[in-house]
Amino acid sequence: NGDVVTERNVHTLCDESFPLCMKILQFHLQRDNHLRNGGRFQYTLFLKAIGLPLSNSMFFWKMHFRKRVSEEVFVRRYSYHIRHAYGLEGKMADYPPQNCAEILKGTPGPLEYHGCPFKVLDQDRLIDVLKRSGLKIEACQDILNLSANGSPQNACARYFEMTQGETYPHPTVVHPNDYYDASRNIKR
Ligand code: SF4
Repeated sequence: NGDVVTERNVHTLCDESFPLCMKILQFHLQRDNHLRNGGRFQYTLFLKAIGLPLSNSMFFWKMHFRKRVSEEVFVRRYSYHIRHAYGLEGKMADYPPQNCAEILKGTPGPLEYHGCPFKVLDQDRLIDVLKRSGLKIEACQDILNLSANGSPQNACARYFEMTQGETYPHPTVVHPNDYYDASRNIKR
């Protein structure tokens, strides 16, 4: 969609245009300077698909992880996985970004933040996350109901509407990168 994406503007693009499943990963990466494997895989592929090149992705992850681990540990434990996601290791598969159906299968354990928040978060945690997005909880009853009633992708479309100020341009959200593109189209 024409945006140049580097490790320096991921944060801004996240605030403006990422779906909630990715905003949560960015939040924890920034806060904890770490993400476990499921979150790293989900987020690396999403960022690759919005246009973050491999070298910038390496900088991006290193910028955070280096606050916790040495360069040597970063290279040994984590850089392989980033190169792998870009199809440069292992099967050399150029992995596509995960769609909502795949993300919805995620069952994050303790200290894991991947998966779809409209499915995996209980109401109290979802309320906290919605507040963090700047939403007033009184206005979020629809999102909470759709989420509690097993319609996470409709809850996500409603979240789009409330944070972007426009109706989601498809019947429901089926891919986080479609969500991102729809938001960038509004910002252009
Ligand atoms: Fe992410 Fe899809 Fe869930 Fe929206 S519905 S938060 S894009 S997994």
